[in-house]
Amino acid sequence: MTDNDEFVDIVDDGGATPAVPAACAPAWRVLIVDDEREVHSATLFALKDLIVSGRPLEFLHAYSAAEARAAMENTPGIAAILLDVVMERGDAGLELVRCIRDELGCVDTRIILRTGQPGYAPEHEVIRDYDINDYKTKSELTRTRLATSLITAIRSYEQIRIVMEGEHGMDRIVRAAPELLAQRDIGAFADRALRLMAELLGDESADGVFCTRHPANGQKNGEASLHVAAALGAFASFRGRDVAAIDDPGLLEALERCGLSGGRLHESNGIALCLGTGEQKAMLYLRTGRPLNDLTRRLSDVLAVSIAAGLENVALLHKLDFYAYYDSLSRLPNRANFVAKIDECLERGEQGWTVAVVEVDHFSDINAALGHQTGDLLLQAVARRLCAGFPDTVVLARVSGGTFGLFGPDDMLEPEHLLALFEQPSVVDGQSLMIQPYIGLERLSEAEGCGADVFKNAYIALSRARSERREHWMYFTRDMQVAARQRLALLHDLRHAADAKRGLSLHYQPQVDIASGRVVGAEALMRWRNDRGESIPPSRFIPVAEYSRLIVELGEWVLCSACEQLRAWDRAGLPGLRMSVNVSPAQFRDPDFVGMARRCILGYGIDPGRIELEITESMALTDMEAVVDTLRRMRDFGVGIAVDDFGSGFSSLGHLQRLPLNRLKIDGSFVADLSAGSSGATIAEMIVRLGHMLGLSVIAEGVEAREQLDALRRMGCQEIQGFYFSPPVPADEFPALLGKAL
Ligand code: C2E
Ligand code: MG
Ligand code: MG
Repeated sequence: MTDNDEFVDIVDDGGATPAVPAACAPAWRVLIVDDEREVHSATLFALKDLIVSGRPLEFLHAYSAAEARAAMENTPGIAAILLDVVMERGDAGLELVRCIRDELGCVDTRIILRTGQPGYAPEHEVIRDYDINDYKTKSELTRTRLATSLITAIRSYEQIRIVMEGEHGMDRIVRAAPELLAQRDIGAFADRALRLMAELLGDESADGVFCTRHPANGQKNGEASLHVAAALGAFASFRGRDVAAIDDPGLLEALERCGLSGGRLHESNGIALCLGTGEQKAMLYLRTGRPLNDLTRRLSDVLAVSIAAGLENVALLHKLDFYAYYDSLSRLPNRANFVAKIDECLERGEQGWTVAVVEVDHFSDINAALGHQTGDLLLQAVARRLCAGFPDTVVLARVSGGTFGLFGPDDMLEPEHLLALFEQPSVVDGQSLMIQPYIGLERLSEAEGCGADVFKNAYIALSRARSERREHWMYFTRDMQVAARQRLALLHDLRHAADAKRGLSLHYQPQVDIASGRVVGAEALMRWRNDRGESIPPSRFIPVAEYSRLIVELGEWVLCSACEQLRAWDRAGLPGLRMSVNVSPAQFRDPDFVGMARRCILGYGIDPGRIELEITESMALTDMEAVVDTLRRMRDFGVGIAVDDFGSGFSSLGHLQRLPLNRLKIDGSFVADLSAGSSGATIAEMIVRLGHMLGLSVIAEGVEAREQLDALRRMGCQEIQGFYFSPPVPADEFPALLGKAL
């Protein structure tokens, strides 16, 4: 088939001025479709030096409609086709156009139809419907016209591409937003953001980093350093490291400049972005293999907004996670996290691990006495000591108020090693505090059940160690669990008894003046018979009541019942006796304690001076401002204060002098020592002397034998209480004791 030969000799009219192409700018792809070879070479000759929008041309050749179709299918980014209308058939060119637009769905490539025969001109509708750029007979096409036509076509291709890429980019950005917001983990988020940006910039094999500044990444000269949270291409191996470790001046310089400008840095083939502020500050850098156009830059700014929003979201989720799994005071894992770690280990079936629960003894007392701020500082000091005392393999957690959890290999969690960490006092808020830990342990090899069970067992062992106070640590054993279950059942019954006021009663033990031999007072002691008729000793139910704070309720009942009894005895004509009532530390910490005691005592019309509260030595031991204050208020009201079981604790003279006391009660164990006929200064004797020195009365409890009474009399002890004179008795048996001789 022959087109007009004129075209073959394209007139050089000097119209298409070659320009200097931009360095390494990709060429525009132009497909020449013609069944005549001369047309190809003439076209090449006419257009070879043409530069459009700074980019050269790259020619592809097809000699039939079929070849053209194949080229279109296999080569992306063909900007324009110079298409011969008449080839294999008269309408082969037009048929190809239809195929390109309809079948291949290619809408951006511009098409210039050329024909030698004007009679083959396509219908107007074809030109319109198939979006044909130009239609020229070959005779019309001088070199200038051809170039002009092609330039116009390529420019419109460029515009179409910009719009399409813009649309595609916007579409991608819109779709990316929820994807970015769905990320919880900063590493995964950074990776996603970086890849999306690379994709948007049109170079998925770009080199890039996403750096975050999270406090957990460590501080450098007071400033948190930038840490590579995600990386692509040449930087991929730097993930997880400090960005300064990357030996790439271009990258570091770009980040610095971007940091200084506080925003965005667009380079010809890369971008740097500053995202977020402060702790959440992050930086993204991408270097692409090809230059970026304006549109891409603008789109990258839009994506940057989505990334910044996603980053904020991740930071928020991170914070929520932190609060859910970490203790904000010590920044250590919390109980849920600790238990989860034990579970993970159990699932892996690893052997040779131990769980330890470490409690700071008297932590709540310290908190109450020295204030919460000091309490917090103390906990941080304990956390630091534990952190420093164990390698990273050992998981450390704060599991409740003054209790820490440790989880590590058996041989690393030796209780002796743990205790040794606390041999030296801690200086907290200018005060030197001795930390006395109690430790409960369970070995995973002996454990049954899940992490929560193991944790609970270690806690049971801890409670046991604390209540026995012989050793400062204990490993969990099965019988402890039985005991713990029994205690729980006991608490349940006791609560029931307290609610129904059933089975509870008071017995009274006389307190006798040694000199006159007269009963001067009574100590009210609680008795409990459960629904099954079993009598439970106070040594079993009082600790449970104290632990559960049920003692606050029970204590009120005891004081009121004792006052009521005193009034009844008064009315029955008994001499004005003193009534001693035991008070637990938990009652003292109750803010309503003083008010309750006043209401109770005055309510029964009792002179407050006839009531004496027995506090334990350990309560007097911790220097508790709150306790001292409560005691003062009680004393001002007129109530007496005695220290029970004196000598079994460790009160210092200094402590004792600060407390508003009336009486010391020598612990029964020192009274028992007296029967051995021991000579020299006994502890009982020292207590009597101490009492005299401090101007306090002294009473001895647990007196069972005549020689004990005699020894106490010789020492100058004023009163006694004990089986020797009478055990505690029910109220109705008490009056008979008043006539009994000592
Ligand atoms: P405590 O206050 O030191 O009471 C003295 C305990 O020694 C009583 O034990 C009493 O029965 C016992 N006892 C009395 N004379 C002798 C004796 O000659 N030899 C011996 N071996 N023991 C003697 P009980 O009644 O079993 O009470 C034990 C502890 O329970 C009390 O020790 C007290 O700390 C606590 N407790 C009892 N009732 C109450 C109460 O109403 N409130 C509080 N908070 N604690 C109470
Ligand atoms: Mg007592
Ligand atoms: Mg006692």
